[in-house]
Amino acid sequence: MHDRLIDEFGRVIRPDDERRAPVWTLVQGVIGARAKTAVSNDNSDRLLAEYGTWEKVAEADLGALTRTLQTATFPAMAADRLKSCLQEIIRERGSATLDHLDKLDTAEAMAWLERLPGVARKISAGVINTSHFNRKALVLDTGHRRVVQRMGLVPAKADTARAFDALMPVLPREWSAEDIDEHHLLGKRLAQTICRPKQPDCASCPVRSDCEFV
Ligand code: SF4
Repeated sequence: MHDRLIDEFGRVIRPDDERRAPVWTLVQGVIGARAKTAVSNDNSDRLLAEYGTWEKVAEADLGALTRTLQTATFPAMAADRLKSCLQEIIRERGSATLDHLDKLDTAEAMAWLERLPGVARKISAGVINTSHFNRKALVLDTGHRRVVQRMGLVPAKADTARAFDALMPVLPREWSAEDIDEHHLLGKRLAQTICRPKQPDCASCPVRSDCEFV
């Protein structure tokens, strides 16, 4: 599947300098519900530029925070979730830091993150995989999850956590964190261009020979 996606879309390799601080990555996920990645990236950068620190963001007035996040898909919800999430980290760790996760194994670190308000498996995997932690964890957004559900790689009604649990053990053992990220980005591209929610273009799909849907 991976090779055929590369044949179709080319390599999608993140540059080294795109790895971000773990808290930035967490924020990007928490405010990013149903928003384009570029919009959430801009909003995360704007928050830090405007408030200076994540601790200041946690203390910010909710209305002001909502205005700063006005390009998010759900600005008020994003602001509320972000404040709650950052406040919980500060309450537990004394400041807005996730450095302690480096001492935990990947499953423990993800479980710690998923106790935070607004954080489920997609975001915890994103923090662990795409930030400086750079660990092996497959991010599954809605589109990529739809692909693996249609293909029959995970149960049709599997939520993200269940799909993650089904797929992680069958990823090639030799894959690095970057390889796993590339696989997600390719799966996401397939979902956006061919395996769309309505009327998937199965005739043009590079993985149709392995897909239960067809
Ligand atoms: S064959 Fe169709 S349903 Fe299956 S992954 Fe491709 S586009 Fe999606």
